[in-house]
Amino acid sequence: SVRAVDVKEHERFKGVYWIEFEDGSTRLATRNLTPGKRVYGEQLINLGGVEYRVWNPYRSKLGAAIMNKLEAMPISEGSKVLYLGAASGTTVSHVSDIVGLNGLIYGVEFSPRVFREFMQNIIDQGRLNVIPILADARYPEQYISLVKGVDVAYIDVAQPFQAKILADNADVYLVKGGYIILVIKAMSIDVTKEPSETFKREIDTIKERGFDIINMVHLEPYDVAHALVVGKRD
Ligand code: SAM
Repeated sequence: SVRAVDVKEHERFKGVYWIEFEDGSTRLATRNLTPGKRVYGEQLINLGGVEYRVWNPYRSKLGAAIMNKLEAMPISEGSKVLYLGAASGTTVSHVSDIVGLNGLIYGVEFSPRVFREFMQNIIDQGRLNVIPILADARYPEQYISLVKGVDVAYIDVAQPFQAKILADNADVYLVKGGYIILVIKAMSIDVTKEPSETFKREIDTIKERGFDIINMVHLEPYDVAHALVVGKRD
């Protein structure tokens, strides 16, 4: 395999890195909070005594959004994040690397089978800043005893009415001035075409619920069916 030769922090996002390889290629990465542990078969790279995990944008929509020049990424060192639709924890693991031990991620997943895998991954890796929660994101009050105020609410549940579910959670858990991150299906990549009805409805919901949209990126070519939207509520 090609040797990694250098690492640079991302131009805008602390805790996100570019690894440079001897063939001139670069890959996105985070600093591994749990050195020696892999999460989804990603490459581990040691440079200057620090271990990094390559962040595969084909496996993580947040990674894809950063590759596609996302400008606002509200998750950083120390952030408290409510993550709805954790699945087995692929993206959660990189968010866990970024927020570090002063941060915290509440990872909500409602499929018992998927949750078991998520929980096992968190335990195997020893990620102390992730709290896995088996619950349905449509009912935020289900986890009120576990979750404290969060700086960022993130949703990727691959279900209709995500914007409503996210806003309902934000009403309960998001701090004043907090951010939302939303993965939305089917924005048309072709600018001459109208965006899909679903897309328009989701954007309208976000605005009606008091958020300003501050950034939006397509995820092509990493993911052809989605866009990632960042919003802020004052
Ligand atoms: N965000 C993950 C990542 O990047 O690694 C992938 C998430 S996957 C597209 C969507 C997940 O949301 C599935 O694991 C599904 O079981 C979960 N999900 C769907 N509806 C949900 C709900 N109402 N509450 C909680 N989780 C839900």
